[in-house]
Amino acid sequence: MRINEIFYSLQGEGHYCGVPAVFVRTSGCNLRCSFCDTQHETYTEMTETEIVEAVCQYPARHVVITGGEPMLQITPSLLAALHARGCYVQIETNGTIPLPDDCQVDWVTCSPKHSPVRLDHIDELKVVYQGQDMSQYDIYEAKEYRLQPLDTQSEAHNRDILSRTIDYCLAHPKWKLSLQTHKMIGVR
Ligand code: SF4
Repeated sequence: MRINEIFYSLQGEGHYCGVPAVFVRTSGCNLRCSFCDTQHETYTEMTETEIVEAVCQYPARHVVITGGEPMLQITPSLLAALHARGCYVQIETNGTIPLPDDCQVDWVTCSPKHSPVRLDHIDELKVVYQGQDMSQYDIYEAKEYRLQPLDTQSEAHNRDILSRTIDYCLAHPKWKLSLQTHKMIGVR
């Protein structure tokens, strides 16, 4: 598999915010979002055994497979090997590539972009908000709905978007505010 990086930190966003987790960032994405701030292009070719060993050198067993788009590369055998070592596996996906039936993922965080979502099951729907029409997300069923202000890299603009995100959550309480807390506390 093409792996951009494996690192240990706190999950900064969403349902598992604050949970110590090992992040496996796969390289490559099938979308090209204008606001993408993830460096995922460079990679090291790793076997599944090497990935599992790299993950298990850390004390936590919460694993976040992220990207890029992890669904381009994820395999049932990698998931089985992680589960065999006691790992709980969360994926962060744009949702455009269906999860095969034999892929046992414990928690699916889907962040829809500008392309249709093709997942049968979503645990957590995480929408990056910049004031767009939210009715487009009414079709999605999830256990939790999270609204996360877009990071524009401009402090003034970010303040405005945060304020609008809070207003939206207050008016539509199905949505919970999601913040990128790792950026606030200065961890990866
Ligand atoms: S789906 Fe995510 S990783 Fe892919 S281009 Fe968009 S923001 Fe970047």
